[in-house]
Amino acid sequence: MSSVDQDVEEILYTEDEIKQRVAEIGAALTEEYAERAARGEEIVLISVLRGAAIFMADLAREIKLPVEMDYMAISSYGSGTKSSGVVRILKDLSSEISGKHVIVAEDILDSGLTLTYLLKNLASREPLSIEVATLLRKNTKAQAKIDCKHVGFECPDRFIVGYGLDYAEKYRNLPYIGVLKPEIYQ
Ligand code: 5GP
Ligand code: MG
Ligand code: MG
Repeated sequence: MSSVDQDVEEILYTEDEIKQRVAEIGAALTEEYAERAARGEEIVLISVLRGAAIFMADLAREIKLPVEMDYMAISSYGSGTKSSGVVRILKDLSSEISGKHVIVAEDILDSGLTLTYLLKNLASREPLSIEVATLLRKNTKAQAKIDCKHVGFECPDRFIVGYGLDYAEKYRNLPYIGVLKPEIYQ
């Protein structure tokens, strides 16, 4: 066991479970977008740095269609564990999305404040369509209503790290998803 593993109280989803679920979502997206791709319509995968980058990298390779990949950085969490509700664009997309199909790859939906802001912002750029694939959705009552077509796992309302998710920029490189020991952030 490495020192980072020792900071994890419980493993929720193993590397294999994540791999399998991401493959399923990729297969579903491949089927869903095949006709649009055949018509020559462009598909762009967008992720919000930095948490969703690992999920999107793996998901992209499970989508057997031509897709662009683009990234945005927005501030929401800082190094704490609760959403601030304050959202600011730190880095915008590199390319235009108007006239393209957008798939937003999210790491985790908690309060939904971040995604609500993002979807409104992206919709104003007139894409052909937008949908969300989130790896995790927290089981919490205080969540904005967001239509997520693809959800990897419905997870408990605990502070989670790994597979892209950090605490104070650590633990993103864990290959599994787990619950951080509360004493680490208390
Ligand atoms: P929301 O705005 O939905 O409350 O939170 C969105 C962002 O907060 C997520 O994309 C993620 O970056 C971060 N976040 C929410 N819950 C957790 C969590 O349990 N662990 C970690 N590491 N980040 C979280
Ligand atoms: Mg995120
Ligand atoms: Mg974070």
